[in-house]
Amino acid sequence: MKKLIFATVIILGIGAIACKEETLRPNPSGGNTVPSGTVGTGTNTGTTSGSSGSTTTTTTATDYSSIVQKAFSGYGAASVSSVTVDGDYVVIKCTGVPDHKSPYFKNSTWESSMYVADTRSTFKQAPGSYVAAFNYTFRIPKAPKESSSKKSLGTATIGIALNGVPLFNQYAAGNTAISVGTGEYVSFDLYGGHPAPSLDYHYHIEPNFITTAKGSDALIGYLLDGFPVYGSKENGKTVTSSSLDAYHGHTAVTKEYPNGIYHYHTTADAPFINGNGFFGTAGTWTK
Ligand SMILES: [Zn+2]
Ligand SMILES: [Zn+2]
Repeated sequence: MKKLIFATVIILGIGAIACKEETLRPNPSGGNTVPSGTVGTGTNTGTTSGSSGSTTTTTTATDYSSIVQKAFSGYGAASVSSVTVDGDYVVIKCTGVPDHKSPYFKNSTWESSMYVADTRSTFKQAPGSYVAAFNYTFRIPKAPKESSSKKSLGTATIGIALNGVPLFNQYAAGNTAISVGTGEYVSFDLYGGHPAPSLDYHYHIEPNFITTAKGSDALIGYLLDGFPVYGSKENGKTVTSSSLDAYHGHTAVTKEYPNGIYHYHTTADAPFINGNGFFGTAGTWTK
């Protein structure tokens, strides 16, 4: 996996490496911007149109809150302080401080224990950025279901990894889609993350510390719509973006969801975690 990501890196410009995507801005691929703070539907039942367009079926989503709680507690990151249920939502509180070493711990509170030099020739550290802690609260639907009107990702933060680090979308400064080996990509550390100018450490690509520990096919986190994100392998095969739908997912049985569930996959190729929006209705996050 690491080999795939880092093998063909071509550095096009050091000036482009600073991570500036944290300004709130719309996903350029869609018109339906979801501002931070938009609240989900809050209901577990709804209607979907049949394929003919003339029939309507009622679907009831399943409450998966216990699976979400078990996923976070099973991973056991110190930065995740609580995973509770509040109404229709699972509420995850965390600091966003990664559980792995990083060159971006330089100058941070944890430098003495968590700093590691990144000696890869392809790596260009974003200047002035280091890891800081925040009081994040993520609220994701406990019973996720497909949205009849898929919304674009809207802002930088699209989900939360099991280690309490935010997952970001695939766009960098200037609404530029991040590409392998160029621009902002070269500032991703050996575990695929980097801090924003606002010091929020985050991943735009597979958090390979998690998949190295748990397996490339492991559950690695959740997007704001409550649907899980898995690594870049499934049944022993590498998943590519072309094998997924427009939102970078598909429905299949997984280890944690034996009855099958819609889920996203990370891929080595862009857009890495998500495609053109949320499959379900996004919850909220604050910090
Ligand atoms: Zn970034
Ligand atoms: Zn899958």
